[in-house]
Amino acid sequence: METPCVFCDIVRGKVEADVIYHDAWVTAFRDIAPKAPCHVLVVPNRHVRDLTELGADGAELLGALLWAARTIVESEGLTQMGYRLVINAGIDGGQSVDHLHLHILGGRRFGWPPG
Ligand code: 5GP
Ligand code: ZN
Repeated sequence: METPCVFCDIVRGKVEADVIYHDAWVTAFRDIAPKAPCHVLVVPNRHVRDLTELGADGAELLGALLWAARTIVESEGLTQMGYRLVINAGIDGGQSVDHLHLHILGGRRFGWPPG
């Protein structure tokens, strides 16, 4: 069956990626163009464009997304020095892949406010 986007293809194993976590709700893999020493994307297993497209099970899905991030932050050794979690959405947010994803960034110091 056709999948609507590259992250769907990664979840389904049709496009290669360095997958480091997978459960019933979400999949996590390393960003192809990392913006920090550690740059992992956590995505819902099913295609959802952004937060506003989530339906009745949205709270459960988002819980799973953040819970996976917690596991990955620990397994990537980011707990002590810290990390940043980011969701870019839409045009102003700078979203370039229209499949909801949480960036986990770590391994260097980040500026604030973001550009
Ligand atoms: P956005 O700009 O939408 O918040 O983030 C999309 C991210 O997906 C970017 O950091 C980009 O490098 C990453 N990305 C885009 N295509 C691929 C791909 O095919 N494989 C992987 N692993 N990452 C990708
Ligand atoms: Zn998708």
